[in-house]
Amino acid sequence: MPSMPTDPAIYPEMLAELRATFDRGLTRPLDWRREQLAAISRMLEENEDRVGEALAEDLGKPAQEVLLGETALIFSEVEHARKRLKRWARPRRVHTPMVGQPGRSWVQPEPFGIVLIIGAWNYPIQLLLSPLIPALAAGNCAVLKPSEVAPATSRLMAELVPRYLDERAVRVVEGAVEETTELLKLHFDHIFYTGSSAVGRIVMRAAAEHLTPVTLELGGKSPCVIDAGADIESAARRVIWGKCLNAGQTCIAPDYVLVTPGDRDRLIGAIEHELFEMYGSDRLGSSDYCKIINRRHFDRLRPLIDSGRVVIGGRVDEERCRIEPTVLTEVAADAPVMREEIFGPILPVLEVADLDEAMAFIRERDKPLSAYLFTRSRESERRFAESVSTGNLCINDTLMFMSVPELPFGGVGNSGMGQYHGRAGFDRLSHLKSVMKRGLFPEIPVRFPPYSKLKMRL
Ligand code: NAD
Repeated sequence: MPSMPTDPAIYPEMLAELRATFDRGLTRPLDWRREQLAAISRMLEENEDRVGEALAEDLGKPAQEVLLGETALIFSEVEHARKRLKRWARPRRVHTPMVGQPGRSWVQPEPFGIVLIIGAWNYPIQLLLSPLIPALAAGNCAVLKPSEVAPATSRLMAELVPRYLDERAVRVVEGAVEETTELLKLHFDHIFYTGSSAVGRIVMRAAAEHLTPVTLELGGKSPCVIDAGADIESAARRVIWGKCLNAGQTCIAPDYVLVTPGDRDRLIGAIEHELFEMYGSDRLGSSDYCKIINRRHFDRLRPLIDSGRVVIGGRVDEERCRIEPTVLTEVAADAPVMREEIFGPILPVLEVADLDEAMAFIRERDKPLSAYLFTRSRESERRFAESVSTGNLCINDTLMFMSVPELPFGGVGNSGMGQYHGRAGFDRLSHLKSVMKRGLFPEIPVRFPPYSKLKMRL
């Protein structure tokens, strides 16, 4: 199913209609917001088969990965937000010091207006709809721009969203660079972008024209450190699962492993064992394993296999855009596979003397979106958490922190700015307006002229 670009000529009128909806206050009542949130889940439930088909067409996603990586997160975020909406949206009282007495002060969340949400192709449903949850929960209108790189899913979203959500407040615009460039010229009240750091810069530059705030959910090389004494079998299972989900096309996939020389071969043996348990011996043919999204990404990934010695995998199926889970050793720190985020099923395993060297290795590079530490030592855990700056940290597993709605998700430095999920998302897509209300009596005249030494002492 090809995606169908939306003609940029209609954008200004579309925005004017959304602006009118917002100004009329349609999106303000909490009941309307709750209904819209429920409609997001209903849309996915009632069209489970078509969602599965679109994701199978774009990425070869197995049904269980559709649930695990796409829809389950949306269901849980919707449920979480619906239950807590009243609490999140109400004014938050804060202390008023003596100088402000008599008076009361509070923080009142208010919607920004119209939020532009630009999604990425690797989890094309989840990355489009999970920012929509806080956008609507906070009372905004939204324009959704699915990724053209996952065309079947983009088309499906363009068809389903208007059927389930209030069209007066939510629109879908399909398109690629040209359409997105036109969209970015318009005045939105917040832009929520998911994708590469390079395009993140383009988005932020465009947003600067209107002084529009942005949330940038970007990528980076997420390191995975195996501390001496870690449970190697468990680490191997959890690391290779995190790497192979969606064939490594996951922004928080463990990008590379740092391990001590004494544990390296045991780790590789355990990874081989786990791969066999998960996918059998014909991994290229496994129906539990995704394809690479398109030829361009396949051609980008294929030469990266030559960055080291292939100890597991290495085979590719050019016709079907598939690459075996591949583990490399003897990889130089500046090899091509170590220069950019891999975003595919290739796992370089590098040796470090100890945890200190691993932490220094990470600190010398851009701040990652996620970091993973496998350890049995509380002391290592503490030192790592204190000295490695990363968007998200997960100890003794990969990816699983995504299942906790109350953990804010987002990058730092080159991996992005701004966090969402749960209340963090609601706050991110709200303006937290400060309000102070003064009492009329008694009037304490200390601040008014004429000034005097006595008044200054009070
Ligand atoms: P992509 O090609 O789907 O691009 C993302 C969006 O940007 C698309 O909607 C696309 O239309 C738009 N776009 C592309 N070029 C543009 C341009 N020149 N001007 C305006 N808009 C443009 O996805 P991608 O960039 O290949 O995504 C992969 C990257 O995204 C990886 O680095 C990955 O780590 C990151 N990512 C981050 C998260 C996160 O939550 N932090 C999630 C998924 C992916």
